[in-house]
Amino acid sequence: MLETRNLTAGYGAITVLWDLSVTFREGALTTIVGPNGAGKTTLLRALTGLIPHQGEILLSGTPLKGKGLMKTWDLVAEGLVMVPEGRLVFRDMSVEENLCLGAYPTRCRGRLSSNLERMYTLFPRLKERRHQFAGSLSGGEAQMVAMGRGLMAEPRILLIDEPSLGLAPVMVKEVFDIIRRLKAEGTTIVLIEQNTSVALSVADDVHLMRSGKVIFSQAAADVNLDHLHDLYFAREG
Ligand code: ATP
Repeated sequence: MLETRNLTAGYGAITVLWDLSVTFREGALTTIVGPNGAGKTTLLRALTGLIPHQGEILLSGTPLKGKGLMKTWDLVAEGLVMVPEGRLVFRDMSVEENLCLGAYPTRCRGRLSSNLERMYTLFPRLKERRHQFAGSLSGGEAQMVAMGRGLMAEPRILLIDEPSLGLAPVMVKEVFDIIRRLKAEGTTIVLIEQNTSVALSVADDVHLMRSGKVIFSQAAADVNLDHLHDLYFAREG
């Protein structure tokens, strides 16, 4: 349902992604693992229109450029939603204000109240803290706000960047329980994750990125973790 063909992208004169072709299957959870600087976050930025790209990104078989869908807000309206790492919440706004900001696409505004209640069922901790400034939350709670804000836009495809970053193991488990639940509900998920064991425990498909390229792709059930780690940590060149 989401696919890149010969995707090249970067920042000004710096090219980070090179000719990258990858498919994210509908209803599946695809994880992208890879060392620091491999270009994982840059891929999510290109997929969500935050940086320009060359090559093609296809949504349900149609190139985004052809559909005139290049702006991030247009993509969110189509159901393509990114959850950035948890520190990227609006610190001077309350938990509830952060969540409500996610509900701006017109197609879901009418369900703001029911979606808010759903978020508080998924993340009871956020209900207790609904009036607290997001800047005063713990790392795990901020991650929940970032995820809840994304879910308020009723995503068909959810792109999640490093949800376990800096979290204690107990919080990692909580966040991944939610990800499992979203997957069970049928949301297509693209998950960037450095913790390969955790990533493999939820994924259907795995791609390993290095130096702006996908160098290995396999069904998660078939992955040999030692082999994956050998490729992950292999020296460049
Ligand atoms: P990490 O796991 O460390 O977050 P990553 O695989 O997500 O790594 P990216 O964050 O996509 O990697 O970074 C890929 C490359 O792009 C890095 O060399 C980084 O320095 C560079 N880069 C990232 N953001 C920018 C930017 N805004 N301007 C210039 N270069 C950038």
